[in-house]
Formats: sequence, structure tokens, C-alpha cells
Amino acid sequence: MGLVKKGKVYLVGAGPGDPGLLSTKAREILEKADVIVYDRLIARQILRGLPKNIVKIYVGKQSGAHSIPGQDAIPKILVTNVEKGKLVVRLKGGDPFLFGRGGEEAERLKEAGVDFEVVPGITSALAVPAYAGIPVTHRKYASSVAIVTGHEDPAKSKRIDWKKLATAVDTIVILMGINNLQQILESLVEGGRNPETPVAIVERGTTKRQRVTVGNIRTMAAQAVERKITPPAVIIIGDVVNLQKDLSWFQS
Ligand code: SAH
Repeated sequence: MGLVKKGKVYLVGAGPGDPGLLSTKAREILEKADVIVYDRLIARQILRGLPKNIVKIYVGKQSGAHSIPGQDAIPKILVTNVEKGKLVVRLKGGDPFLFGRGGEEAERLKEAGVDFEVVPGITSALAVPAYAGIPVTHRKYASSVAIVTGHEDPAKSKRIDWKKLATAVDTIVILMGINNLQQILESLVEGGRNPETPVAIVERGTTKRQRVTVGNIRTMAAQAVERKITPPAVIIIGDVVNLQKDLSWFQS
């Protein structure tokens, strides 16, 4: 591994929840950090095991608060600390460049002329299905997979075309989709996806509190209400979900 340097920001992926899924590169950088700026959904165990002298700054939002107050504050914290010559880690859940604004933060660092490096993480989009016993592709059942957000910035002009997506790929993995679940499932049917297509929702995947709910496009909205499904959760749609009953291996 290359030299871990002061005066630099490391955008590090923490993995999906199970602390064992943090990479060795990520761990090495974390142990050398002066400042760690972290979100919600970072396993507490990861932070707890680190040297006490590291300054740990929490910048997560409260659940449900999707507004952006202070979003600019994060790059500011990173830049201020790095300009003091610190080794700064921006620790993000899963992979830093899959949703969660990692790209935007990198742009702000670039604009500020700050040196940065990206340490990819294991994304919940793949690891959470895996811990539920769902391979997102399979030679027989799925040759393609799309990873989609279920919560788009309302200000964005070009929205996800769920109807087109409906039949364009075999497996659809949706992050941040619980609040719009019913709408999303309806659009997929309108787009021509078979309503009997299997669906799984995995809450708190890879953690001790993982819970898996399996149904199909027609039934899942009601099941979600009945089982009081809450974020964070990954939604998996496609025939691969049928493998879950045989391949389920993780005892939570
Ligand atoms: N960069 C992250 C995703 C950030 S968006 C990654 O690569 O995993 C946050 C969303 O990720 C949550 O709303 C949820 O849909 C999903 N997510 C993250 N961790 C999860 C977990 N342990 N179990 C289920 N879903 C999770």
C-alpha cells in the first residue's frame, strides 16, 4: 500500500454494517487519522476500536430529515482540518461513491485545491443481498443488475424512468426506497414488469438485526406496512430472489 499522508483527505468506505467488511487499507488509514468525519450507518465497533486521540466528528442527519442543512458544512470541516496539516478521513457507509454524496464532496475538495484519495468500500447494494442469500446475478436467472435510488433530489430535472427500467434489467436493487415503495412497485408494473416478480426487502443487512421479508411486486407494499419495515433497507427485485430460501446462510 502507498504512503498514508498528512494534509490529505481520504474518502473511505466503511462497508455496509458488519465491521469485518472494512478493508485492510481502510483500517490502516483510520488508525493513522487525526480527524474522522463520519455519518450515520457507520458501525460503532469500527470507531470504538480506534486510538483515543483521534478527533471523531459526527455529521449524520437524523432519520427522515432529507433536507440539506449543513451539507456544505461537511466539505468545510474537511478543508479546515486538512489545511492545518491533518490526516483527515471522511468515512462513509458502504462505498463512498455509490450514493451518499461522495462525488460531490470530492468535487468540493478538488475546487478547494485539497489533495484527496478514494478508498472504495463494500457497498450495501451487493453485500446486503449476499447476506440475505441472494446473488444479484446468476447464470440461469439474471445477467444484468441495476442499482437505483428510491429517493431522488426533488429539484433534479431528469428523474428515474421506472417504467423503462421495469423490463430493461433482470435484477433491480433499490437503495433508499422504503418511503416510496408502493409508487415504485406500481410504476414497474405499469412499465410491463410481471406483478408476480419476487421481491425481497432486507433491513439492517449484515448486522445482528438483519431482517428479510420476501414477497412479490403485488404483495410487498402491504407486507411492508404489516411488518413495519423501516430504513435502512435494500429492496431486491427479480427472479434471483427465489434463491433466498435455499441460500440463506447468515444467522442474525
Ligand atoms: N454508500 C452507501 C449507500 C448510501 S445511501 C453504500 O454503498 O452502501 C443509504 C442507503 O443504503 C440506505 O437508505 C439503505 O437503502 C442502504 N443501506 C446502507 N446500509 C444498509 C444496511 N446495513 N442494510 C440495508 N440497507 C442499507
